[in-house]
Amino acid sequence: MRLYICIAVCCITLFAKAQNYKTVHKQAIVVDTHNDILSTSVEKKLKIDGNLLGRTHSDIERFKKGGIDVQVFSIFCDETFGKGTAFRFANREIDSLYTIAARNPGRVMMVSTPAELEQAVEQEKLACMIGVEGGHMIEDRLDYLDSLFKRGARYLTLTWNNSTDWATSAKDESAAQKAGKPLPHAGLNDFGKTVVKKMNDLGMMVDLSHVGVQTFWDAIQTTSKPVILSHSSVYKLCPVPRNVTDEQIKAVAKNGGVIQVNFYSGFLDSNYLNRRKALFASHRAEMDSLKNLNKGEYEIGDWLAQKYRKDMEKIRPPFSSIIDHIDYIVKLVGVDYVGIGADMDGVESLPKDINGIQDFPKITKALLAKGYSVDDVNKIMGGNFIRVFKANSK
Ligand SMILES: [Zn+2]
Repeated sequence: MRLYICIAVCCITLFAKAQNYKTVHKQAIVVDTHNDILSTSVEKKLKIDGNLLGRTHSDIERFKKGGIDVQVFSIFCDETFGKGTAFRFANREIDSLYTIAARNPGRVMMVSTPAELEQAVEQEKLACMIGVEGGHMIEDRLDYLDSLFKRGARYLTLTWNNSTDWATSAKDESAAQKAGKPLPHAGLNDFGKTVVKKMNDLGMMVDLSHVGVQTFWDAIQTTSKPVILSHSSVYKLCPVPRNVTDEQIKAVAKNGGVIQVNFYSGFLDSNYLNRRKALFASHRAEMDSLKNLNKGEYEIGDWLAQKYRKDMEKIRPPFSSIIDHIDYIVKLVGVDYVGIGADMDGVESLPKDINGIQDFPKITKALLAKGYSVDDVNKIMGGNFIRVFKANSK
């Protein structure tokens, strides 16, 4: 009899815990600061208000399933766009997001202020925000920056992988260092500093994901408002130039900003990158023929990942790698400076058990299981980012 009582108590406890994480997740304002579904849907001619399960990491219905309250949609074009084309392309992507919002008034709402964000959450609609991923989209013009802000853009990533005339990227700075040929003008030049100050005046968050180390330090010294890293992870755990060092994490904390952890397997676990390299090397002939067709590095990666899905499946890092990166930042600087910028639909691989935006509740579950309090979880899942958004909007 005693055994039966014990089993019953265990079952009730487990059930309560399972219920608990769902309730905590539902009650938290969950924010993801980086999602590339807009570019992906344009490229693949998909409608994100349809059911895209199995084809993408996200669609409107799955944001709801994942308990996402606020999604920052990335406006993106690569380095092949420049003066005369990049700003126009950015506006077309912004148009597409407004069109999706207009088609789904009962489900989504465009927001550009903290008050609107709260209104959307209250009405249980997905709050859609705009982040522009790459300074090249302002084409060296402050009036274009102004215009993007007026259209609702609330962060600008100073560079993508390509440097601009006024800011150097992590990719270019690290390549120059590797080659032993330092760039003649690394970091922000005077115009770059003007861009940062103008963003502070407008109330547009300065996003330092993708930027080079020198650009990072120049921007941190120039900004008068807290910065964000919309989708970056920890260098110490996975040493790639896109991730941030302990010194950078400490500087962001001092600035009152926030680092939104990126879920890309290659930014979480360096074993993944080594295995991916070996896998792709075994298909060198295909890689070379794609190169001959003038396909870019990312397109080739994506193509191979799609074709060799089963092999890619085997090299995914464990789910715990996400929690390790969050926990590392918390242990280094406290719980107020970390959040989530998953990079869904912008990456070819995610850790095991994270197959799309619908799996976000697993993060809450894992944080609670690790001993994080409900208050801490609320901060990580969205509260920290909202604090920075508010500080920039004043
Ligand atoms: Zn990115």
